[in-house]
Amino acid sequence: MADRFFPNDMPEFVAEAPLGDTSSSSSSERTEISFTKLLSLPYRTLSDTLKKSAVDLKETVVRETWGLSGKRIQDYTVYTGALGTAFLAFKAYQVTKHPGDLKLCLDIVKACDSTSRDSSRVTFLCGRAGVCALGAVAAKHAGDERLLEHYLKQFKEIKLSNDLPNELLYGRIGFLWASSFLNNHIGINTISHTRMRSVVDEIIKAGKQLAKKGRCPLMYEWHGKKYWGAAHGLAGIMHVLMDMELKPDEVEDVKGTLRYMIKNRFPSGNYPSSEGSESDRLVHWCHGAPGVALTLVKAAEVFGDKDFLQAAKDAGEVVWRRGLLKRVGICHGISGNTYVFLALYRLTGNEEYLYRAKAFTCFLHDRAQILISEGRMHGGDRPYSLFEGVGGMAYLFLDMIEPSKARFPGYEL
Ligand SMILES: [Zn+2]
Repeated sequence: MADRFFPNDMPEFVAEAPLGDTSSSSSSERTEISFTKLLSLPYRTLSDTLKKSAVDLKETVVRETWGLSGKRIQDYTVYTGALGTAFLAFKAYQVTKHPGDLKLCLDIVKACDSTSRDSSRVTFLCGRAGVCALGAVAAKHAGDERLLEHYLKQFKEIKLSNDLPNELLYGRIGFLWASSFLNNHIGINTISHTRMRSVVDEIIKAGKQLAKKGRCPLMYEWHGKKYWGAAHGLAGIMHVLMDMELKPDEVEDVKGTLRYMIKNRFPSGNYPSSEGSESDRLVHWCHGAPGVALTLVKAAEVFGDKDFLQAAKDAGEVVWRRGLLKRVGICHGISGNTYVFLALYRLTGNEEYLYRAKAFTCFLHDRAQILISEGRMHGGDRPYSLFEGVGGMAYLFLDMIEPSKARFPGYEL
């Protein structure tokens, strides 16, 4: 088990020095002392450092995933493909207001638009909805009404087949997330309540059908397994359902499903990756405590329930102890796990969670590149992608500039 993550020997808390007191820090020293100094920097100084690093990383990601390929798209998705680079460029634009980043985002989306025209994938993270939704939002920011209409029209033409799964990466809930993203950024009813409701109906119906006679009110399957995590299972489906207008009995089903998960978590506090699994191994966003933690934070926000708040904090402890993974990415790496502390900070206002987010981020900033080059950390199967590679690390660094506004990309609204 221990080889999946680095033992977390970082200090429980390091106080920040007052602004202006940065005299003796030397970023070239790769020692414990320099790491502690990084943690003790005044927040504004640290965020300037992270911003610079994020911009450099973004340039590398753009070169590797867009420039060097001659702007030809092989994988168009947000998850591992070019659209992830577009999403990172959009984030950079939101932080820096540099018009070149918005233009870059729109150029990449345009290329993805033509590549994905015949794709039957419908979600934000891995499908056509991501292309159309990000295209529409970026077009709105660029003040291009015609382009906005184009992408919205394309989005509305997406057809959901009857045999679609319900999970986030390839299924119905991933389409609903894209709809909420549009309504959030462009205006309520951009995607109509009726359209979204018909998808919610199918998801609830499928969940009740599979849950029949079980102890959990809703249950889903993907490739024959009843997954619990954010990417393919209950945590992801419940997370997005909480953004929908649900009927009172549906609200109870969502709460009941979350209570079932809390009751049946591992003694360690971690969550099984699928129903009945006894393997307490993965502490990822996709499988395990981090993805569940984000859903529980949302449940605490939406329902104001103390049990969900406590369970979210408990899951956060697991992420602190076992979440310093030997990968950098958003899906199953340190960057994704850091968003758990940012979500808990947003929910509770407790500075200790901001410190934990900072500690994971500083670990990445200080050590990731070296550990990867030494072969002690995995660079990711798609090393420059948003969800598996350094694209996600750049996104996190940009989010750390204004931590109370940070949102897990493509997942938290
Ligand atoms: Zn993953």
